[in-house]
Amino acid sequence: MRKPVPWVIAGLLLIIALTVFVMRTLPVPRTTARETPTTRETSTALPDDRREERLRMVELQIRARGVKDPRVLAAMEKVPRHEFVPADVLDEAYNDYPLPIGYGQTISQPYIVAVMTELLKLKPGDKALEIGTGSGYQAAILAEITDKVYSIEIIPQLAERARATLDRMGYHSVVTRHGDGYWGWQEHAPFDAIIVTAAPDHVPQPLLQQLADGGRMVIPVGPPGGYQSLWLITREGDEYRNFNWGGVRFVPLTRLE
Ligand code: SAH
Repeated sequence: MRKPVPWVIAGLLLIIALTVFVMRTLPVPRTTARETPTTRETSTALPDDRREERLRMVELQIRARGVKDPRVLAAMEKVPRHEFVPADVLDEAYNDYPLPIGYGQTISQPYIVAVMTELLKLKPGDKALEIGTGSGYQAAILAEITDKVYSIEIIPQLAERARATLDRMGYHSVVTRHGDGYWGWQEHAPFDAIIVTAAPDHVPQPLLQQLADGGRMVIPVGPPGGYQSLWLITREGDEYRNFNWGGVRFVPLTRLE
């Protein structure tokens, strides 16, 4: 009668292994995940009950499509995207598409955020300028890599809300303001990296001028309402080199009258 004991243990181990496997692979509804009492996650500074979902997003939508920069991947794994989207699309925060954030604007698809950030080749200490704060999510991603981030938003209500979100999530280093980003932010220029998250029909001259020697700008350019090309512009002295990454769709860059 001693024989069954190892089998019982083996059986139990198998059940535990299967449970862990199923929990890690199945998209568990958020409410269930929240209520699971066996959660082992240690508490972090940020409220973060959707980490598993986020890690899956980075794995399947971003790493699998070729994004490699470890700083970008770490930032995308860390920033709680769901804290930056409106309540009515909360459940879709980690899905593979852009989401509405009000006022006719959108938070970009996670993959596009990752690609644009990777193209910037951002490193700690770099000074970065974002045009189009929107939800504040892209600014938070930048802030995970460098503590010198400036961001301009043209819609006052979005500027205000993004500021509140960034503060709530502890991104105090991000400097924001309301205004027309077409003119850049001369006071803080030059920038090592400039990211434009709304599409103009031409590259704004002030942004080219405010790019540091060796600086990188990522900008979608094309007709409003249609498809645009995502450009990486690299400055070397007074020379600018252009690389066309491919087709994208962004909301138009609007102008203050
Ligand atoms: N980076 C944002 C995406 C926002 S969508 C995020 O992570 O959520 C683009 C944003 O650009 C919109 O909020 C829009 O209002 C803003 N925008 C459009 N034209 C602008 C301009 N000229 N200057 C500053 N912001 C602008």
